[in-house]
Amino acid sequence: MPTDPVLVVHGGAWAIPDDMVAAHTQGVTNALAAGWRVLERGGPALDAVEEAVVIMEDDETFDAGRGSFLNRDGKVQLDALIMDGATLRAGGVGCVEHLRNPVRAARKILSESPHVYFVGEGAEKFAAQHGIPLCKNEDLIIPREVERLREYQAKIPTSRTQNAREMGHPAGHVGHPTGAELFAPAADDETISHDTVGAVALDREGNIAAATSTGGTLNKAPGRLGDSSLIGCGCYADNQSAAASTTGWGEPIMKLVLAKWTTDRIAAGNLPEWSAQEAMNYLKQRVNGHGGIIVLNPEGHIGIAHNTPRMAWAYKTVKREEIGVERSGQ
Ligand code: ASP
Repeated sequence: MPTDPVLVVHGGAWAIPDDMVAAHTQGVTNALAAGWRVLERGGPALDAVEEAVVIMEDDETFDAGRGSFLNRDGKVQLDALIMDGATLRAGGVGCVEHLRNPVRAARKILSESPHVYFVGEGAEKFAAQHGIPLCKNEDLIIPREVERLREYQAKIPTSRTQNAREMGHPAGHVGHPTGAELFAPAADDETISHDTVGAVALDREGNIAAATSTGGTLNKAPGRLGDSSLIGCGCYADNQSAAASTTGWGEPIMKLVLAKWTTDRIAAGNLPEWSAQEAMNYLKQRVNGHGGIIVLNPEGHIGIAHNTPRMAWAYKTVKREEIGVERSGQ
């Protein structure tokens, strides 16, 4: 018997300011429409999450694809993962600098490589060999982000910067970072921007899939990889449990392998809604982390939770469509 499809997307969890809410809700709405077109015609969940994420990678509102945060050297470095819950096949790319849509390359890896993960030049070479055009890094950089990095770097006291950078402390574009913040990072600083994008889907065949794509954190050290593209950290999908995509400050999330932690709760019999909320509690209590998560199980139950003031999210079922930046019960 065919299953009713479900799609959930997110566009980052943080204190999205009022004047940026419309762009975020429009972005997730567009992504939802693109993914739903696939599911509606009976297409696979894997295609749906890929198409939804591509829309948000192409949207400069988000920290994914063109318009992403710049790293310390002023370059865009992108990470993405896609995973198929039916087969557990996954494809990931890390630290790519010449791909407009890293999730497309991740999908090629999933479909056409015995490997799961490629980084840097090797990832780009693989993508090019599989028909994905490479772009210049400058094509991914927009003036807004050049200015944001310039402002951010101007505020960091230089004597303390290097250590803090090497320690991988996060950087936010709202507020005024001080040396103290860098050494004792305000992991619970909800104003730090996290505009990573992600999607989870259930198709008519009853299969689930997940995808996550990011430009990482502002002023990150070159080569730094966050949680987003790491299997089980920023993204996971298994038909025997659930599909999940996370966003937030990546270092705490990866320490907890949070996406897999959450889907394990669902495998143990808990509902996605409860498990998503528990994941946020665990993130906060265990490592003082902040962020958000979307979760979907093969029965079509969803979970959307964040411990930041806002997270851009949207979901659609055959009966219902909802879009928002706050989830009740937060
Ligand atoms: N999780 C991402 C990272 O740390 C950032 C984000 O979610 O915006 O790379």
